[in-house]
Amino acid sequence: MSVAYFGRRYTFSAAHRLHTEALTAEENQATYGKCNNPHGHGHNYKVEVLCGGQVDAETGMVINMAKLDEIVKRVVMERFDHMNLNRDEIFEKEVPTTENLSIAVYDLLEPKLQRENVRLEKIRIEETENNFFEYAGMK
Ligand SMILES: [Zn+2]
Repeated sequence: MSVAYFGRRYTFSAAHRLHTEALTAEENQATYGKCNNPHGHGHNYKVEVLCGGQVDAETGMVINMAKLDEIVKRVVMERFDHMNLNRDEIFEKEVPTTENLSIAVYDLLEPKLQRENVRLEKIRIEETENNFFEYAGMK
């Protein structure tokens, strides 16, 4: 089996506030610091999608880049770009940390890529210049 990997980077901007009903106002403040600001704040998230799969004998590719772009645009960008993550139903019961955002992006994309015979190997999201998060599915 000739398995190869193809990764592509996308950017979207979104707002969030880190806050959980499970903690008191003081505990939220102590846990999340300025990210608990009631007015929220934004990030330019850089999302890397790593696909793995058999190199197609005819096309020589793991996945057609235009196909991947179409899926990511429909499933991720249209959902999260210029949105308030706290208002998305995924984050009704979960804090929209970038750990949870990585899991959400993975879980949204994985079934769509599986349909293209591609394995979603990993999602990596850069939140700031110094912070990045990765999720590679259930272990
Ligand atoms: Zn933040």
